[in-house]
Amino acid sequence: MSEESYLFYQSRNPRPFLNRGEGIYLFDESGKPYIDGSSGAMVSNIGHSNPRVLDKIKAQMDRATFGYRLHFRTHPSEDLAAKTVAMTPEGLDRVFFVSGGSEAVESAVKLARQYAITQGHQKRIKVISRFPSYHGCTFGALDLTGYDPLRDPFAPMLAGMPKIAAPATYLDRDNLSEDERGLKYAELLRDKILAEGPDTVLAFLMEPVGGASTGALVAPDSYYGRIREICDEFDVLLIYDEVMTGAGRTGKFLAAEHWGITPDIAALSKGFGAGYAPLGAVVAGARLVEPILDAGGFAHGFTYAGNPLACAAGLAVLEELEDQNLIANAAAMGEVLMNELRALMERYPFIGDVRGKGLLTAFELVSDRDTMEPLDPALNAYDRLVELAYERGLIIYSRRTRGGTAGDHFLVAPPLIITEAQI
Ligand code: PLP
Repeated sequence: MSEESYLFYQSRNPRPFLNRGEGIYLFDESGKPYIDGSSGAMVSNIGHSNPRVLDKIKAQMDRATFGYRLHFRTHPSEDLAAKTVAMTPEGLDRVFFVSGGSEAVESAVKLARQYAITQGHQKRIKVISRFPSYHGCTFGALDLTGYDPLRDPFAPMLAGMPKIAAPATYLDRDNLSEDERGLKYAELLRDKILAEGPDTVLAFLMEPVGGASTGALVAPDSYYGRIREICDEFDVLLIYDEVMTGAGRTGKFLAAEHWGITPDIAALSKGFGAGYAPLGAVVAGARLVEPILDAGGFAHGFTYAGNPLACAAGLAVLEELEDQNLIANAAAMGEVLMNELRALMERYPFIGDVRGKGLLTAFELVSDRDTMEPLDPALNAYDRLVELAYERGLIIYSRRTRGGTAGDHFLVAPPLIITEAQI
């Protein structure tokens, strides 16, 4: 490792240099292999250095790496939009490209706002989201994010959008059934809309399965349908942040499909470009988009949006998902992984919960499974476990969130190409 680095991220970076990737493995410069057990940050859904994807990207590179969207249509962007629509549920048939998840979330919200204006709903400006949640780091997305360590330094600069509790039913110690719990949490949305004034509420934003914020938290089935009903009752648009869950990670192209829900808008990124290009998308119904275009256009856009190189990569990724049947594999391998995690939980009393959907899974460490008391922070167990795994060549993803309603967890989310033997 070079001694001096001019680069910084959240902190200085003590990690070894990456040399290359292959399938579910990454190799550092000493040749040591690592199982990419979190697909980076739940990004590398089709694994590393897929030769067919690389060939398609190289072919596009030889033609043109950039063509500004206001100067040319491009086949990769048109084809990727068509493929995205074909893979998402009916009713989501317009696509807007971006370069990442925060951009996707903010674009979804701005689309909702402009649609509301076309409907004469000028007063609708509030977006309700959940706590804990993660929707991104840019100011708009951060305001919708329920995670204090990231918000605190900037809180005085944020508008302060309303929040409701995300369902953390595994912590509830009541006598309700799962169904009743789901409905209980969904009613929080109705209460909040009424408290804020229904004619001021633009949208409700949620991760269908929690990601980094809640550790793969899945709500009871009853939650999803009731949330959809409540949004419809008040003409509030339902936005699904599928940045982490989308593109097959949970065993369906959109996680929404598990509950037969069609959101009004869905945000995609991460597995959509799968690490082959910085790429994201907003998918929405024509009934929202067409009035905006008729009224003069969407007042929004990023320079790199829809660039042909990123779109060629995205198209190759979606083709790979289809050709290799990777979404079905995510569902099947997700069951294998969940069974293994459950077996670990039986063996180790300090694992308090395992949860997830498809290949977005998590386990949580506690000092007492009955009370779900977190481990003593002084043990620093979270960092130590991540480091021990890393030393042994396994990458997992951890986040401490107690203080919100979800616990301290590790995400296990390998590439969707993983086999049973590799799990
Ligand atoms: N939304 C969700 C659910 C995420 O998990 C993330 C990233 O972790 C984002 C939005 C933000 O995406 P990005 O980091 O690409 O801006």
